[in-house]
Amino acid sequence: MHYPEPISKLIDSFMKLPGIGPKTAARLAFFVLNMKEDTVLDFAKALVNAKRNLSYCTVCGHITDKDPCYICEDQHRNRSTICVVQETKDVIAMEKMKEYSGQYHVLHGAISPMDGIGPEDIKIAELIKRLQDNEVQEVILATNPNIEGEATAMYISRLLKPSGIKLTRIAHGLPVGGDLEYADEVTLSKALEGRREI
Ligand SMILES: [Zn+2]
Repeated sequence: MHYPEPISKLIDSFMKLPGIGPKTAARLAFFVLNMKEDTVLDFAKALVNAKRNLSYCTVCGHITDKDPCYICEDQHRNRSTICVVQETKDVIAMEKMKEYSGQYHVLHGAISPMDGIGPEDIKIAELIKRLQDNEVQEVILATNPNIEGEATAMYISRLLKPSGIKLTRIAHGLPVGGDLEYADEVTLSKALEGRREI
């Protein structure tokens, strides 16, 4: 189908988003055309501002508009525990639960030989570095309960074993194969509570 160029450009832009195919992209593009100009401008500004003003915390890797992030800065939080998660979305899921008050470390991925992702491609070295000041007493491995998440937890636990730091893995109340971010708060809270030493 041939659209005028501005529309086909808009459709192409929507197709860059995950899970959006040509049909949905066209539907969204036409929806935008029917929106008020002010709303469209706000929308465009929100996209650009989010991109410009957000970066990753240089301490924990969480998404933030100031560095270090509010979690790393918070003096009331427990500094002796680090919860290791795969994605920044997982920090948000954990924070929603309101039961964890330690630190985080976002790996930005998981080890996946099938996809060519090795330990050096995710933020494992940064985690090891954070453990060197002896302040941390427990590392909670809260990677996803799927093959990649388990492989990553296993790799980190082997690496940290000699350090003597207590290592725990969140319990399997979480659906196997699922993502941490989709777990409801009760399940996530139970998984954290039931974490076991490895
Ligand atoms: Zn941080």
